[in-house]
Amino acid sequence: MDTSEVFSLYKKYINPYLADLLRFAGCDKIEWEAEGCIIRDSEGNEFIDCLGGYGVFSLGHRHPVVVKAVEEQLRRIPLSSKIFLNYPQAKLAEKLAELTPGDLQFVFFSNSGTEAVEAGLKFARMFTGRKKFVSAIGSFHGKTLGSLSVSGREIYKKPFEPLLDYCVQVPFGDISAMESVVDEDTAAVILEPIQGEGGVNVPPDDYLPEVRKICDEKGVLLILDEVQTGLGRCGRMFACQLWDVVPDIMCLAKALGGGVMPIGATIARPYIWEIFKDNPLIHSSTFGGNPLACSAGLATLNVLVDENLPERAERLGGYLLSKLMELKEVHPQLIADVRGKGLLVGIEFSEEDIGLLVISLLVKRGVLVAYALNNPKVMRLEPPLIISKEMLDKVIDSLKASLEEVKALLM
Ligand code: PLP
Repeated sequence: MDTSEVFSLYKKYINPYLADLLRFAGCDKIEWEAEGCIIRDSEGNEFIDCLGGYGVFSLGHRHPVVVKAVEEQLRRIPLSSKIFLNYPQAKLAEKLAELTPGDLQFVFFSNSGTEAVEAGLKFARMFTGRKKFVSAIGSFHGKTLGSLSVSGREIYKKPFEPLLDYCVQVPFGDISAMESVVDEDTAAVILEPIQGEGGVNVPPDDYLPEVRKICDEKGVLLILDEVQTGLGRCGRMFACQLWDVVPDIMCLAKALGGGVMPIGATIARPYIWEIFKDNPLIHSSTFGGNPLACSAGLATLNVLVDENLPERAERLGGYLLSKLMELKEVHPQLIADVRGKGLLVGIEFSEEDIGLLVISLLVKRGVLVAYALNNPKVMRLEPPLIISKEMLDKVIDSLKASLEEVKALLM
């Protein structure tokens, strides 16, 4: 396996600029195999996966229960005929309805986070007959045109304008700003309970309950995008449960496939499904809800419950945060803030360049992390929820050493 050959294929056929960026960050290696929290490159070097595929690998890599379910399904019927009833899809929908809060019940399956959001936006417009969407500055909901329209960072939006009309963005966590724009023309408010790509922004405790109230008063749907925060990541099965808020529509993806299959899901309260009454195919997806992905999803939910992973995320996340607070005390010139819930944790550096340097030094020490897409000053830690305390300690030690190195370089 020749790394330079793969690098030049990237340069020639995939994305030369991305290839250069990966090289700059010290990530021009071939990922070859993975297991649990470890990724191995083609030369046998091991890395602790502390990014977890931006939230995909909550169960780690190749969790045996998920792999077994997918292998068994692969031998029966991997993709759907789209004509008959699909058993894994039905069972996964039932399990999602059981685990999601309140009366969330009906599920539309797709293949990614952005598709889960697109479906949510379309359902909200059709159900309410209204056009307007309200979302938050700094938010990230995906990169297809609809999801991009409600996302909150200009550099990713500007080149693709005009995007959807009637999309308004307000500062995240500011309830009076929200109140001032939500009106009788609004179809939905769409928010991440905690902003991931925005830089791990945790809202004030009264924010989501107040937004729920405003939506109820104005007959507006509340869509919560739990693509990154859901499925145990933030110390509850769903982050909205941290504040006892039930959305009208919830979007899931990433971890739902157990780190083995791609899958997206849009889950709604029962009355919203009236939109399918006159035309059951008003929204559909060829690969959405395929048996392979749904068998992975069902196995994933079972593991999350059986291994009590949301509780584990809360416990280990509390430990990690306390250790990072100590590091912030030691390096006030380098670290501006640390924050998070469960195992969705962000370190805000005083400057963007410091973050980039720390990330590349961590890669050299065998720890994978990344910055937040909409806030590059913030480095994210999203390890698998199955990570051991010993491995987390190794990550903290590597971070300590990398910060010392940066300090010596800069001062
Ligand atoms: N929503 C949120 C909150 C996300 O974090 C992401 C991806 O990072 C998406 C949507 C888009 O997901 P995908 O990349 O699978 O389309």
